Amino acid sequence: MDKQRIYRQMGISPEVYRLGMEAEKSLAERFAGFDEIAGYNHLKVISAMQKNRVSAECFHSSTGYGYDDYGRDTLEKVYADTFHTQSCLVRPQIACGTHALAVALSGNLRPGDELLSPAGRPYDTLEEVIGIRPSRGSLAEYGVTYREVPLLPDGSFDYPAIRKAVTPKTKLAAIQRSKGYQTRPSFSVKQIGELIAFLKKIKPDLICMVDNCYGEFVDVIEPGDAGADMMVGSLIKNPGGGLAPIGGYIAGTTECVQNAASRLICPGLGREVGASLGVNRSFYQGFFLAPMVVKGALKGAVFAAKVYETLGFRVVPDSIEPRQDIIQSVILSDRERLIAFCEGIQAAAPVDSFVSPEPWDMPGYDCPVIMAAGAFVQGSSIELSADGPCREPYAVYFQGGLTYEHAKYGILRSVQRLLEKGLISL
Ligand SMILES: *Cc1c(COP(=O)(O)O)cnc(C)c1O
Repeated sequence: MDKQRIYRQMGISPEVYRLGMEAEKSLAERFAGFDEIAGYNHLKVISAMQKNRVSAECFHSSTGYGYDDYGRDTLEKVYADTFHTQSCLVRPQIACGTHALAVALSGNLRPGDELLSPAGRPYDTLEEVIGIRPSRGSLAEYGVTYREVPLLPDGSFDYPAIRKAVTPKTKLAAIQRSKGYQTRPSFSVKQIGELIAFLKKIKPDLICMVDNCYGEFVDVIEPGDAGADMMVGSLIKNPGGGLAPIGGYIAGTTECVQNAASRLICPGLGREVGASLGVNRSFYQGFFLAPMVVKGALKGAVFAAKVYETLGFRVVPDSIEPRQDIIQSVILSDRERLIAFCEGIQAAAPVDSFVSPEPWDMPGYDCPVIMAAGAFVQGSSIELSADGPCREPYAVYFQGGLTYEHAKYGILRSVQRLLEKGLISL
């Protein structure tokens, strides 16, 4: 088998191939660590499926109101048991991660309450949900106020300032695990647990919600193990395992999850309503595979870090730091490099490899964003994808890859593209 030859046929020159092989060789030990975590998490999911007696009946579909959807209800128990929470909503009616977060927030906040972000500015799309940027129907319009405590310059929590920011009005604290489109570090579940313990000491009834997007199955513990009252994520990221065609989840205390269900559906009906429309099997199968898929994505992320470090770029996290999510950012410091990187990722895709990504004004973002993805599920970022806002420092955020092999190929294509355009030298 001549691996170098097939890479060459697929657009990778021998020098870029060599760069990749050397990077890979140096990562054997890290990869073994990811294998360990994935093995543990995989068993955790299987155990939850066995405990809840998942059967072929669970894959049946419901339509209309979806009353007594056995597969949906059982899957929600499987999620809750895996994440060690009392309850969970897992629904195709949740359109995306932002929607899940908006439902969790608006379901649990009332007029006059204050929302606290103790870990700096939240994810871009939440700015309009909260009303940091004025928006139709924001929490601000409903009389929910917002307070934010920036992170310290070294990316850690500013505990004294957080203590001052908690007032009798503070009802809910929202903590984002992954860095999103920021260059701060992502937080470990352990760090989040310390923050939650600190907050609960000041105000025991404060609801602590964790935006868990991109974090699921990266560690052997999840925010639910660290005292979070709610953890929220998207099924077209980690827990969908690449198979879920849509959806989101909200796991947490029975109280918080019921409040969210009353908002997602409506007061009075709550979680009883919501047909599964034939997605149950892909939700189950995707969740089953998710730890393995996350493992591939993590290997891809570390590979990207190593390769771009070797090329002299700043990468966050670097190739030896512990991982808290599947996102890898590379600081490219230049618009043309950002575009070329995304072109390379796009060219490596199994779907839409022939199209060329361009920056556009995406809803929810305050500057043009370039995105590369050739995915089986539109917008799915557990599949190999790269994106970045077209602003300083021109950081590209690379994530996903249903398999490590594909992520690796994507990264090598990006290097090749930068080389072709004369934007780097080897
Ligand atoms: C992706 C993401 C979201 C939003 O999810 P969408 O599915 O894009 O709406 C929110 N928070 C974080 C940290 C994310 O990574």
